[in-house]
Amino acid sequence: MVSYKELGLVNTREMFAKAIKGGYAIPAFNFNNMEQLQAIIKASAETKSPVILQVSKGARNYANQTLLRYMAQGAVEYAKELGWEKPQICLHLDHGDSFELCKSCVDFGFSSVMIDASSLPYEENIALTKKVVDYAHQYDVTVEAELGVLAGVEDEVSSAVSHYTKPEEVVDFATRTGCDSLAISIGTSHGAYKFTPEQCTRDPKTGKLVPPPLAFDVLDAIMEQLPGFPIVLHGSSSVPQEYVDMINQYGGKLPDAVGIPEEQLRKAAKSAVCKINIDSDSRLAFTAAVRKVFAEKPGEFDPRKYCGPARDLMEELYKHKIINVLGSDGKA
Ligand SMILES: [Zn+2]
Repeated sequence: MVSYKELGLVNTREMFAKAIKGGYAIPAFNFNNMEQLQAIIKASAETKSPVILQVSKGARNYANQTLLRYMAQGAVEYAKELGWEKPQICLHLDHGDSFELCKSCVDFGFSSVMIDASSLPYEENIALTKKVVDYAHQYDVTVEAELGVLAGVEDEVSSAVSHYTKPEEVVDFATRTGCDSLAISIGTSHGAYKFTPEQCTRDPKTGKLVPPPLAFDVLDAIMEQLPGFPIVLHGSSSVPQEYVDMINQYGGKLPDAVGIPEEQLRKAAKSAVCKINIDSDSRLAFTAAVRKVFAEKPGEFDPRKYCGPARDLMEELYKHKIINVLGSDGKA
């Protein structure tokens, strides 16, 4: 048993309480490799933003759960080296799908876990979530649960259709499970193809797809039911057109990739939404930078020469998100 507290990590409780009061949201960035983690920590340290490092099932399969945890521990030390005296870094399990997995993360130094039982019937979602909460809270590890179903594909989490969270269920769910935060479905979606062209309209001037707006009425109804309760948005990459264009310019093929407009995320961040998950955008930045190097310097074969620019572009992206979308700069 390793407590996250020994590793210098923090859970989400205080982060979320401050974020709701302050009208901003905490960035939750997924990481799979060293360059991505360096970029996240550098951006967070330089902007003094609290940050949630997320480990998905796909990341665990790709990089190994043990290695990722030691990387997060190293990230705390790296942050201090960068001059961030008291780093506010949370290590969070993204989309945990069983009690055993959540328990292994709690036992192994994670400061927060998500149990995603949203695909199960309502009562089973409550039972499994409560089991995880009861265990995690013994060690002061915070638990995110999910109610409602998001569309899209993210690693091994996928659904063809979405179901908005039902506001009439949230009080019962939060009370009976004791969860610390709730991921809801209000029209965000996993992946870089969040909406089909049929779901969108086209901007007559640019010809670009315009996604359907988020269901702020559902969010408002949820906040009315659960005043001051931390709300989480998954699938909240904005799929920046500049990266999609760069990828396509340098030999890629991402037609009609579309995300959540940043103005809508900014609006959400000012409400009880206090954690916004961003994964696809950094994948796009990484790929765009690597493709550019390969296209411009075909003789390059030193991975540092293309992973380095990818890291720089991701860092720029993370800073932009922190300052211009989440508003979490200067809060840690
Ligand atoms: Zn998700």
